[in-house]
Amino acid sequence: LANATSHAVATLRELILAGEFSANERLNQSELADRIGVSRIPIRDALQILAGEGLVELSERAGARVADLSVDDLQEIYEIVETIEPLACSIAVAGVGRLTILKMQELHHLMEHTQDDDEWLSANHEFHALLYRSSNRDRMVTLIDNLRMQKDRYMRLYRAGVGDVEKLHEEHAQILAALKAGDSQGVAEWTRRHLETSHDVLLRHMLGMGRAATS
Ligand SMILES: [Zn+2]
Repeated sequence: LANATSHAVATLRELILAGEFSANERLNQSELADRIGVSRIPIRDALQILAGEGLVELSERAGARVADLSVDDLQEIYEIVETIEPLACSIAVAGVGRLTILKMQELHHLMEHTQDDDEWLSANHEFHALLYRSSNRDRMVTLIDNLRMQKDRYMRLYRAGVGDVEKLHEEHAQILAALKAGDSQGVAEWTRRHLETSHDVLLRHMLGMGRAATS
């Protein structure tokens, strides 16, 4: 990718994931070009790439819009991650060394003590990513990263924050305990339950806001 295009992709992705635009908001190419400081060609290419990631919707008539977040989309994301994340975990366990476990313990400790939602979310992301990366399955890790970005977007948009923190921390502790015991099935099973918990948290927030099941 040309430099200007990768800059445009990274900046625009960050803006969308940070909730700078509302769902369905129209994305004007010249405004974006001014804001990001590149010409229109890289913006057009960036919109194509982000459409492939599910963050942008392109249509001939309406142009580019920030993709809406529906309960159905969230359901599909969780159906995929509840299959693939436990799988990556169970492959990873044999390859996880002491250093990775120590780093995960530190992140677990940080999450138990921070009051800052953004810090919690990035520590949580890294806690799980350390495990997935140990699987040495590059395609799986890329796919998981992409889906996690979309999940985090729901978290931010619905200000779900971190939900039932105590339950999530207990699940992290269980994942760590199974990991230390070399119990790959245990790590996979606690990861699956952990995903169910965050899916429930998000659904409650979305339904509480009266969003339709299809949109
Ligand atoms: Zn977690």
